[in-house]
Amino acid sequence: MQCMNPVLELREVSRHFSGVVAVDRVSLEVEAGALFALLGPSGCGKTTILRMVAGLDHPSSGAIFLNGKEAGARPPYERNVSTVFQSYALFPHMTVRENIAYGLERRGAGDVTSRVDATAAMLGIGGLLGRRPAQISGGEKQRVALARSLVLEPGLLLLDEPLSALDPNLRAQVRLELKALQRRVGIAFVMVTHDKEEALAMADKVALMNRGRLEQVGSPADVYLRPATRFAASFLGAVNWIGDAGVRPEAIRVSVSRPGGDVLVREAVVRETMFLGDRVQLTAEAAGQASITAQLSRLDGPFAPGDAVHLWWLPADELRLSA
Ligand code: ATP
Repeated sequence: MQCMNPVLELREVSRHFSGVVAVDRVSLEVEAGALFALLGPSGCGKTTILRMVAGLDHPSSGAIFLNGKEAGARPPYERNVSTVFQSYALFPHMTVRENIAYGLERRGAGDVTSRVDATAAMLGIGGLLGRRPAQISGGEKQRVALARSLVLEPGLLLLDEPLSALDPNLRAQVRLELKALQRRVGIAFVMVTHDKEEALAMADKVALMNRGRLEQVGSPADVYLRPATRFAASFLGAVNWIGDAGVRPEAIRVSVSRPGGDVLVREAVVRETMFLGDRVQLTAEAAGQASITAQLSRLDGPFAPGDAVHLWWLPADELRLSA
């Protein structure tokens, strides 16, 4: 689908490094105000795309448009784009205030103090302005890095694995904060991640990449519930392959009696149940079929190994793949 006025457009962009095709004819559009996730396994070309959009690298072929204008060989500082790097890249010898002010001062902007104060307040780091990076936590460093970019009021913010430096407990919380912040500032974010849950939870649109190519672009529900390819289906979550169809474990229901209605059913024997706290994973064997896994609520069942059961799902829950 074509956006009305994309802030970013890639048209058939490729990048080759001496024999390696890092990015292979990628075309995509990012709408104004969107949170767009570039998702894929290590080495699939995500960072290379981000670097080309930032102007730190250039396509071997194809074109990049920022606000409808071809970016060409324009250097990073002439693009209305700011990048938050994975490492945050804060200047260790400067205070938080100096770090945030740095870009504005280089541009010779006015109102530096008040703009830094306003951005720091928005990110809840107003109390840290006098400290140096070594004196703040990982989560606070990430906010300082965000503040340093947002204070420049870019048209597009690029984030390279923005949550990867945070410990797992903090990640889930910062995920929500970052999404809320993006809504508030209304700036389009392009976020690189290899974490499917992060992409599904945060993005308006997910672009799934595989070996330099775009595998599928869509809303989180689109790519998860209607994956276009086997790669997309498997990368985004667990799948049971039953005959030609893929069925996600949470779409499979288990009952002792045979269900009625328009459902697909396999008779099976329970092999194992695993208690996972918030859910139960049940593995069963059906005739002529490798094992099938179902994710159940703790309130279903209980089922025990050796139980004869019916596994069933709705026709609409079968993943239909084109490749
Ligand atoms: P990760 O999640 O591990 O950061 P990625 O999806 O961001 O991976 P890229 O860093 O874009 O992947 O790399 C894509 C491919 O291009 C990889 O095979 C990588 O080895 C290769 N590549 C990237 N930069 C260069 C370079 N400067 N010279 C040669 N090959 C490169």
